Amino acid sequence: MKISTITSRSVLAVSLAFAGTFAAVAPAQAAAPMQHKQVPGYYRAMIGDYEVTALHDGGGNVDTKILHGDPALIESLLARSFENDPKSVAATVQAYLVNTGSKLVLIDTGAGGHWGGPTLGKLMQNLKASGYKPEQVDLVLLTHLHADHAGGIYQNGKRVFPNATVMMKKADADFWLSKEITAKAPEDAKIFFKVAQDAAAPYIAAGKWQPYEGMDEIVPGIAPYAISGHTPGHTGYMISSKGQSLLVWGDVAHVTAVQMPHPEIGIDYDSDGATAIKTRAALLVKLAADNTMIAAAHMPFPGLGRVRKADTGVGYDWVPTTFLNVK
Ligand SMILES: [Zn+2]
Repeated sequence: MKISTITSRSVLAVSLAFAGTFAAVAPAQAAAPMQHKQVPGYYRAMIGDYEVTALHDGGGNVDTKILHGDPALIESLLARSFENDPKSVAATVQAYLVNTGSKLVLIDTGAGGHWGGPTLGKLMQNLKASGYKPEQVDLVLLTHLHADHAGGIYQNGKRVFPNATVMMKKADADFWLSKEITAKAPEDAKIFFKVAQDAAAPYIAAGKWQPYEGMDEIVPGIAPYAISGHTPGHTGYMISSKGQSLLVWGDVAHVTAVQMPHPEIGIDYDSDGATAIKTRAALLVKLAADNTMIAAAHMPFPGLGRVRKADTGVGYDWVPTTFLNVK
């Protein structure tokens, strides 16, 4: 009698323990909160001995009415890429951090929260997540002074990269910093002049703003690369190490789904549309022929890939890089 009492109590205790376990686990599984947080926006690649880190500044949507082409063709090209709303086509902004082993060079800097709304301006958090600090950057190279490339160098009137010299083609600095040209600019373009001038001011005051004119190598293995048309001084950068190379091409194209198959379709953002189209056409012929790796500010993140001639014989395909580990 005594034994059976103990036994039945034990069984009851075990049953209650199980019941408790199920009661505790089952609802928690059903109610696991969603995390709503993306992975950090950086991606690493090696070009010879140089480490390249793609840094995501954020994303936004482009209204493709700013493209210059037949709207029906544009719509059908977008639909082929599963973009069904021509007023809202996904686009990203990224910059590239190059560690040569002796210099840390940042090519472009995102919008810094000065343009494009709160979905841009994430470069700094991603630079830090990638293991670097802004004070480690020795040199900032800008492809051009549009707000989504130069806006990230300043905050509250101060330099974000306190030890960096900032360099860009002189023609771009002359244009975007000119008070006369600013005064004549259309109202909706004035923000681009303001951001460029606000970005430049603290670096000019510190003697760290250095426009350049030639095309000589700036640091060993990083040289300017002429890509004219988008802005008066728009310039890419060719990174070369141990026989490998990467062209940081800035704003050669903005809407992958449209401008790769039809590079003759321009965009409002180009200062000199005809030259930008001619430059893009010639550059794509060359890059498809020699398989050069490209780092593109507005191709889907990380914006690293190559172009190849399309099987249709018209235009090009963007071939993104494969996610790889680095040694
Ligand atoms: Zn841009």
